[in-house]
Amino acid sequence: MSLHGDYETDNIFARILRGEMPCVKVYEDDNILSFMDMFPQSEGHTLVIPKAPSRNLLETNAKDIGRLFGSVQRIAKAVEIALKPDGIVITQFNGAPAGQTVFHTHVHIIPRYTGLGLGAHGGAGTMADIDALTVLAGKITAAL
Ligand code: AMP
Repeated sequence: MSLHGDYETDNIFARILRGEMPCVKVYEDDNILSFMDMFPQSEGHTLVIPKAPSRNLLETNAKDIGRLFGSVQRIAKAVEIALKPDGIVITQFNGAPAGQTVFHTHVHIIPRYTGLGLGAHGGAGTMADIDALTVLAGKITAAL
């Protein structure tokens, strides 16, 4: 997968946006969807995606990037209130060689806790328990 090319409409996040796949939702508005990462690198690992289709940040229009990162900050603040991490990593990968595995633009909000390591990136870790994710999402949503 190169940095540029056609947007593939069967990617997993496009399917979540169309309601064909479930997600544990944190926040949604006309432009943004946020949900829990199914293979979290830490407790509370949250994803934020624009609804408009684009493969990566380089192919996202500036208006959508502004909305996306406004929401990322808002949701990161809610993660801080809800889960009280010691730090928060914000990551965003463009192209397979950079580590991108899902080719719909997205931003990771990854809470860090002192003394706790980080799980594997890109769905290589353990699939989370949905009930546990739902509890975490509820706490983050309540803090928005
Ligand atoms: P990236 O590797 O940066 O493209 O990130 C893709 C992220 O999507 C990884 O952190 C995966 O764990 C996550 N992921 C893959 N499938 C799902 C899914 N069905 N629901 C939620 N997160 C997913």
